[in-house]
Parts: sequence; C-alpha cells; structure tokens
Amino acid sequence: MAAMKPLETTPEQFLALSEQVAAIAAEFLRRLDETRIAPEASGEEIAKFFDSPLPEAGAGAGAMEELKAVAQFSRAQNGRFFGYVLGSGEPAGAATDVLCSVLNQNVTAWRSAPAAVTLEKLAVRWLAEGTGCAGFSGVLCGGGSAANLMGLAMAREAKAPSNERGVVASGRLAMYASAEVHMSIPKAIGLLGIGQRNLRLIPVDGNFRMITGELERVIRKDAEDGVVPVAIVGSAGTVKTGAIDPLRELAGIAREYGAWFHVDGAYGALAAIAAPELFRGMELADSLSLDPHKWLYQAIDCGCLLHRSAEIARKTFANSGDYVKVMHTEPLESFSFFDETVELSRRFRALKLWFSLRYHGIAAFREAIARDLRHARQLADLVLAEAKLELMAPVELSAVCFRYVGDGTAPENARDELNSQILARMVKRGRVYLSNATIASSFCLRACFVNHRTTDADVQEVIDEVLAAAGEIEAARK
Ligand SMILES: *Cc1c(COP(=O)(O)O)cnc(C)c1O
Repeated sequence: MAAMKPLETTPEQFLALSEQVAAIAAEFLRRLDETRIAPEASGEEIAKFFDSPLPEAGAGAGAMEELKAVAQFSRAQNGRFFGYVLGSGEPAGAATDVLCSVLNQNVTAWRSAPAAVTLEKLAVRWLAEGTGCAGFSGVLCGGGSAANLMGLAMAREAKAPSNERGVVASGRLAMYASAEVHMSIPKAIGLLGIGQRNLRLIPVDGNFRMITGELERVIRKDAEDGVVPVAIVGSAGTVKTGAIDPLRELAGIAREYGAWFHVDGAYGALAAIAAPELFRGMELADSLSLDPHKWLYQAIDCGCLLHRSAEIARKTFANSGDYVKVMHTEPLESFSFFDETVELSRRFRALKLWFSLRYHGIAAFREAIARDLRHARQLADLVLAEAKLELMAPVELSAVCFRYVGDGTAPENARDELNSQILARMVKRGRVYLSNATIASSFCLRACFVNHRTTDADVQEVIDEVLAAAGEIEAARK
C-alpha cells in the first residue's frame, strides 16, 4: 500500500470528522439556553488549559476533545445576550461554513470562483432590494468597519482623488458626521490620510440625531476657509442609542455642497427590511455600509458595502488601470471583485448568507427583526414602569439605555459605580448579558436586541436580573 501523503485526509475520514464537529456544534445549540452566558473561567485558567508547545506529532482524533473545550470556554449567544451589536448567529447558514471551506473558492474574480461570484452578486442585490436600495451594487467584506473604510475611500477618490499622488490637500479636506458616530469612521478618516482632526463632529438633538442646521453652518464656515467638504456620514442607527440621522435632509445638504453621502448602516440599515418608514432617504446615499452579521443574524464575518457607482469603485480599488479599458470579453465572465474592493483573496461569505435567505425566506427575517424592535419597546416600557430604573435615551431602534437608581438617594457619582458593579455582577450570575454606554456622562446599562432567539420572557428577565444584581450588591454593603 502506498504511504499516505502528509496531511492527507480521506473523504471517509473527512465525513467522520465533520460529523463529530457537527455533533459538538449541535450539542452547543441544544444546551445554549441553559449554558452560562459567559464562562466562569478566568483568562489565566483558559490560557493554562490550552497552553502547549507546538505539537511535533498530531493527536489525531484526540484533538477532537479539545474542540469541546473551545465550545465550553465560549460565550453563549442565547436569547438573553444583548451586549454590543452582536447578531445571534443563524445556524442554517452556519451549517454551510464547512462546505465554504472545503470548496475553498477564492472569490477574486469569476474565473476563479464562478458560483461564488455569481452568488455574492445575487446576495448583494438581495440586500440592496431588502433595504430599499434596489439598483445599488457592492461587495461583501469583513464587517461594518471595512465597509465604512471602503465607502469613505470611494468618497475621497470621487471628490479629492489621492490614489496617484497622495493626499495633497491635507487640512483642506473635511468630512462630517454626528457626535454619536461609530469609532470606525474616525479610524477610516485617519487611515485615508484626511486626518481625524478634519472630521467635524456635529452636535445632536435630544433624540441623538444630527442637527442639520449645525451641519450647514459648519460646512459654510469651512467653505469660507477654502476647505472642501468631501463626505457627509449619516448614521442609520447610532451604536449607543440606535438614533437615525435625518437621512433625507443630509442627502440634500450633500448634494447642495457637492459632498459624497455615506450612510453607516452597520447597526441599523437592515431593519429597513421590517420598518422601511424609519429609513427614508437612505436610498439617496452614494454608499451604504451594512452588517448581515448583526441584524440579519449571520455568523461572523459578513459585512457589506453598497454603492451607486461601480465606476467609482473601480477608480478607487483597481490598480491595473483596467477599469478604464473596454472589456471585450463576456462581461459576467470577465468580472473581478478585486477591482471593486480592497481585498484580493476573499472567503466565500455569500454562501451562508444566500443559503440562510433561501432556507428561511425574507419573511422570517422580517418577522425576527420586527420582534427585536418590539422587544426593545417592551423593555423600555418595563424600565419606565419600574421606579428603581431610569430610561436614559429614547428607543428608536432596538438599543435600550437605562440605569439603576434604586430609591433615588445615591449621589450621581455613586450611581456610575453602582451600575458598573451591577453589570459585572450580572455577567457573574450568568443569565443575562448587557453592555454599557455613557450618556450625558452617566454610566448606563445597554441592551441591544439583534437576537432571533429572544422571547418575551427573556425581556422580563433583563429587569429581574438587574434588580437581583443590585439587591446582592446593596445587601453586601449592609
Ligand atoms: C458595529 C458597527 C460598526 C462596525 O462594524 P463591524 O462589523 O464591527 O466592523 C460600524 N458602525 C456601527 C454603527 C456599528 O454598530
């Protein structure tokens, strides 16, 4: 018998391995609801558990046991996980992940990955249709941060071309966003050589939406100083409170002053599938970032940039100059994603997304998103009805910011400390996971609903857990 080649895995071995992996995954899902929401083990304990030298010889099937530990030391995204903006992970799409890796298509261009390129274009088209932006094209990417970087790179190349000679007009270019904008925007502006100082943070109103009159005032002042308005960034769901900027007005201002209009919809834009009326004006964007791994519940990673101009995308991302050449070959088969995105080698991200949409249908997603919106309002109502809690921001989408105030006698600075202790205590209790936000310089608890598993009872449990954690802390003090 011929000796096995190194690393060889027969199809039979592959099947056995995948069945074992699938069994571990299924067991994780089966126990999700009862599992502690964050493992109890410390960083040191987990590091110690896995620590081992680079293995000279393989453990074979023995390595499988350690996969169980990986699951055990992971956070459980059950129906009571409300931290950050983190999608709950849709298992039907996730089931295709192994096929994605086995097919190992490199989604650079049609000739390298015929089915994958076709399905990515289709999935992108579906996302555009679902969010009211039919006709936009785009690409899948690692997430909202990558999409924002690419959208603003397109803005820069459209309004102040710099790829060839560098950013010659540094300090003479500005971008505009609300004070509530996500950190990925200043990060992108820094990386693009515009300079973070040239991001104008425009104040927000009582609903955390950009004040458009202030925006116009700042743009006019800049114009007097010879500063070019490159891009206006609207948030379709701010990360803290879920506020949606007045998108239609921002689009009008962008047009008037010749700026690019980018919408950061990484958190909220996909909610347009269920509540299009909240997002009027989004379809006027030049570019729009979305995160199917947030509010379409897809496994990480799956971000998306939509835009109106494949030509500007090629001007921004094609290095060969090919974008100006007329393609003589068949347009579908000569298509290259690498001319329209920052990446060359790319994972087949569309597989899970396409499959998940095929499998469940958009109606199921629309219903899940509508439930998230309803659950957020439900929590806000429960907070309002509980004298020991205070609602800290209006609930426009699905982020609910609130805090514990108890009998109301604690001084303001003690409240921050108490709420931060409550948050830590809740994680320890292991039932509900929240994150935090600072609003009007107060430390708040924040529950964000982008979770297809949440039930009405889970929403009630948020209140119960906050009160229980606060009770434990207060009892320990006495
Ligand atoms: C999450 C988020 C981002 C960043 O998206 P990633 O997928 O985490 O890179 C950008 N903007 C907003 C509003 C977000 O909520």
